[in-house]
Amino acid sequence: MPTFVLPDKCDGCKGGEKTACMYICPNDLMILDPETMLAYNQEPDACWECYSCVKICPQGAIEARPYADFAPMGGTSIPMRSGGDIMWTIQFRNGNIQRFKFPIRTTEEGTIKPYEGKADDPGDINDEKLFNMTEWPMPKNVINKKVEVKNPDYTEVWKNPAV
Ligand code: SF4
Ligand code: SF4
Repeated sequence: MPTFVLPDKCDGCKGGEKTACMYICPNDLMILDPETMLAYNQEPDACWECYSCVKICPQGAIEARPYADFAPMGGTSIPMRSGGDIMWTIQFRNGNIQRFKFPIRTTEEGTIKPYEGKADDPGDINDEKLFNMTEWPMPKNVINKKVEVKNPDYTEVWKNPAV
């Protein structure tokens, strides 16, 4: 389920030129309705539920379903940002609530140098090396063993998962 904006909580980022959710969405999905001054997800099908807008919204006005690996269906997951961390409140469908805290980035915005270490010579564009690699790292210890495949006919496994 894509994100949705709670209209009673959204304040349109107080009429800013670009709202926080518009700024952060990697898919440019969030948009501000100029009449209601409420944000909404303009293309829900394209939302990958990355939670960026949910975390950045200063009003806690955006919700998305929680990922099934930490909150089974019917639960909610609400992040609350502070200066140094994000507190997640997870409510399970039976009403149980758990909270956990994660630190947020401490690197100052704009100070990361994504091309640091890039080799001057771009080399062969088809050689599949990463841009900061001049040669392929070779494994230090070669495992000089043949791996025996016990049962190469996997159709048997499909028929009988206990095999
Ligand atoms: S970031 Fe939150 S408060 Fe700001 S426009 Fe988006 S939903 Fe509304
Ligand atoms: S969850 Fe991610 S992809 Fe979806 S609207 Fe928010 S920022 Fe965009």
